Amino acid sequence: MAVTELPAHTTDGTESARVADPVTPSSPPSPADVGYEITARHGDKARAGVITTPHGQIATPAFIPVGTKATVKAVLPESMADLGAQALLANAYHMYLQPGHDLVDEAGGLGAFMNWPGPTYTDSGGFQVMSLGAGFKKVLSSEFAGGATARTASGEDDAVAEGKERLAHVDDDGVTFRSFINGDVHRFTPEISMQIQHGLGADIMFAFDELTTLMNSRGYQEKALERTRLWAIRCLAEHQRLTAERTHRPYQQLWGVIQGAQFEDLRRKAARDLGAMDVDGQVFDGFGIGGALEKENLGTIVGWVTDELPEDRPRHLLGISEVDDLFTAVAAGADTFDCVSPSRVARNSAVYTRTGRVNLTGARYRRQFAPIDETCDCYTCTHYTAAYVHHLFRAKEMLSSTLCTIHNERFVVRLVDEIRASLISGDFEALREQRTADYYGAPR
Ligand SMILES: [Zn+2]
Repeated sequence: MAVTELPAHTTDGTESARVADPVTPSSPPSPADVGYEITARHGDKARAGVITTPHGQIATPAFIPVGTKATVKAVLPESMADLGAQALLANAYHMYLQPGHDLVDEAGGLGAFMNWPGPTYTDSGGFQVMSLGAGFKKVLSSEFAGGATARTASGEDDAVAEGKERLAHVDDDGVTFRSFINGDVHRFTPEISMQIQHGLGADIMFAFDELTTLMNSRGYQEKALERTRLWAIRCLAEHQRLTAERTHRPYQQLWGVIQGAQFEDLRRKAARDLGAMDVDGQVFDGFGIGGALEKENLGTIVGWVTDELPEDRPRHLLGISEVDDLFTAVAAGADTFDCVSPSRVARNSAVYTRTGRVNLTGARYRRQFAPIDETCDCYTCTHYTAAYVHHLFRAKEMLSSTLCTIHNERFVVRLVDEIRASLISGDFEALREQRTADYYGAPR
């Protein structure tokens, strides 16, 4: 089928020619245009592979940087391509509120709208709908430390963090929520999430699921998981309907999301249910692993899920970018990852280096007329000194965010690229030991 190709920026800044009109009608979209192939295996579960989309391929494992509102804050899409990002992820919730999925559809889809020629992902909107304004944070890593009194915004066993108004209510049909922008009331259902994500036009979309936290009761987890299962069936049906209707667009993959919090039986059941789910021949093209994950149990929980999922479809782990978490997740059989942290912390002057995370506003950088990280090959480290970036932060100059985001995104993208290479060469354990020892002071 015809594939839209926008100008592709190469490392020397030249552009390739535009070869196709983004709105030329073509043959009906079909799952045959997409796929996943395993190219190498390592250990029990780790694998390297290639995801094929109508906008290009993604070599996995791969880190997918987040551009929440169709932009990785402060960085040009061209720079994201230059630093090796293979795909970008935008948030359906934010794009629905502003500028609206219909407008993005009119523009030719997310990639065409933002001048990103490569593959794109969107999440379902569920995470933001159920978490923003509700005063709780995703239960992973140290972020949870401050949220011990927080609960999910769902249903009856919730309690909203002090000082926060509850902005979402979950029922069996969907979620009613208030816009964080102006307080207007909106409603998401599985069907609406599919309509929004089809309008946005990303190559990889996620099913609408109910987010829970580790703080919810076992009984509530069971209830929420069943709701997510029923919503997954509705997502597949609506996705099939929209795919048949929107023959002018390339096929979009739909990945089901596995919830179940910290419970082995629930995680395994969810993975079996969604892995086998088939609605009139429409199955999930891949899977997301979502929800509450304690850092220390990350590998165990991902392992339960990948035990049960079909081998021949890719798996995305939502929301990780820490060095040790990436190795753990790959070893447990996850293929792609996204996280907003590299850009978010960069804007607050925190940068990743081979030997750990540091803050560039520290006095020790005032006269460091050398790169942020001597081992880094990013545009920032090959053109600017730490002293200059330190100055930009002190002077509150916008360029500080741009330079540090480029560095942090390159750091994570490159690390996952090295992990992929190590799976192929058989050096995964050696790389894990060396890089975690360098970063944390002792191997993990
Ligand atoms: Zn760098």
